[in-house]
Amino acid sequence: MAGQQARLEPHTIHAGGEWRAAVSGATRDILDPADARPFAVVAEGDEKDTDLAVAAARQAFDSGQGPWPLTPVAERAALLRRVADLLVRDREELGLLESRDAGKTVEEGRVDIDCVADAFRYFADLVAGEAPGRVVDAGSTDIHSVVVHEPLGVCALITPWNYPLLQASWKIAPALAAGNTFVVKPSEITPMTTIALIELLVEAGLPEGVANIVTGPGHTVGARLAEHPDVDLVSFTGGLVSGTKVAQAAAPTVKKVALELGGKNPNVVFADACATPEGFDTAVDQALNAAFIHSGQVCSAGGRLIVEESVRDRFVAELARRAAKIRLGRGTEDGVECGPLVSEQQRAKVEDYVASALEEGAVLRSGGQRPEPSPERPADGYFYEPTVLDRCHREMRVVREEVFGPVLTVETFRTEEEAIALANDTEYGLAGAVWTADAGRARRVAGRLRHGTVWINDFHPYLPQAEWGGFGKSGVGRELGPAGLAEYRETKHVYQNLAPKPVRWFAG
Ligand code: NAD
Repeated sequence: MAGQQARLEPHTIHAGGEWRAAVSGATRDILDPADARPFAVVAEGDEKDTDLAVAAARQAFDSGQGPWPLTPVAERAALLRRVADLLVRDREELGLLESRDAGKTVEEGRVDIDCVADAFRYFADLVAGEAPGRVVDAGSTDIHSVVVHEPLGVCALITPWNYPLLQASWKIAPALAAGNTFVVKPSEITPMTTIALIELLVEAGLPEGVANIVTGPGHTVGARLAEHPDVDLVSFTGGLVSGTKVAQAAAPTVKKVALELGGKNPNVVFADACATPEGFDTAVDQALNAAFIHSGQVCSAGGRLIVEESVRDRFVAELARRAAKIRLGRGTEDGVECGPLVSEQQRAKVEDYVASALEEGAVLRSGGQRPEPSPERPADGYFYEPTVLDRCHREMRVVREEVFGPVLTVETFRTEEEAIALANDTEYGLAGAVWTADAGRARRVAGRLRHGTVWINDFHPYLPQAEWGGFGKSGVGRELGPAGLAEYRETKHVYQNLAPKPVRWFAG
């Protein structure tokens, strides 16, 4: 892999078909979050590298050999399917790399790679099966009127560290399927699998200049991409603060902006869901899954449990008992269920939220500290125990803001109306769930939740064929599904007069 080739001068910037070091020669160590040791070195690009990559993408879009935008749809789809096959071939290696880079377990890394391959296959099938345009009835046999969809141009794709390759694939696959060229900027702390994906795109036969990557920080590479006059769209996944900056930087050039931002996702549990032992066990088990998978570093993490008051004590006791048993450790160790947080900075943020919650009156039921070091949990790793905070309320910072760590807050309700009001009481609106044995209530509550994805009696699954995105401050636009392809297209109306004659609007 390019990222592992040369420690002294890492060639991880790909522009116009060439792997290069940063113009400045700067580099960055990539740390393993399980022990804080560097395991790779990448080029630390800046604005100059970004300009080179954008110029390459522009050239490939406007006039590349056999330009990608004009490549027949069947050929574009075939290339995406080849990429999916290569991802399957390299599944073990990529899953392991994702685990080391982001701290997740290897099994989670493997699942991510499967989902990445699914995204490439889905968008290949979607474009291959489409009608080439929509004929419009113009009210006259002398007029032929058709609406067609065309590629947008150069797409800037900016991605976060929690699902590095998955989030990149939700942008790269539809961008390519629609016929665009792109520059991707992965998170500066987890770039390794995105570098590897660019290598697979080259191996699959993508023409030079279509796929470009600049490794480097957000305030230089990301900011330049957002403001660049030769970029036609910026699609960003990350936090609210950076997303707002991207939208501001993009505004003067009036480029298209898509934002996938954070969430504060309610998991609403009605007592009737816990009426049987199996129902109770399932709701508790899934509440753990919702909050603690990937140590809670998931945009749709169900970190806000809203449970009916009559079952609260029993529910929280079982949750806390099971949370305390979650096996923490290096993601590559057998049997480990949760890896470390991604960085020291992220762990410090989580510790600050827990401290503020306790000051504001929350009751700690489990976790709330760093675990004891062990052979599978090196002392320098960024570990933090799964934490359950009871007796929380909506005025607390930990309930209002995105924690992005293994912290579950518990609030209670007495009526359906109160449950809905609490679940919607957030400035975000990415995802939420309702657990109930009453089918009518399930549909009523789901219909009133102001969130982009609502699960009934489940948490976390998504489908490539169903749109993903947020209400409110969770973002603008959608990924996946037909709308996820539409983000990467312009719509054009072609009106043809088959029998042109003078109109004589002007008498002379
Ligand atoms: P972040 O906002 O810090 O960084 C995201 C990306 O933006 C990185 O590549 C970063 O380098 C870049 N960036 C930072 N400042 C920038 C700027 N001024 N201009 C342009 N680019 C800039 O987010 P993160 O900490 O990497 O990821 C965690 C966040 O991502 C959480 O808020 C999470 O909810 C969100 N997220 C959302 C989804 C979703 O589907 N809605 C999915 C995954 C993650």
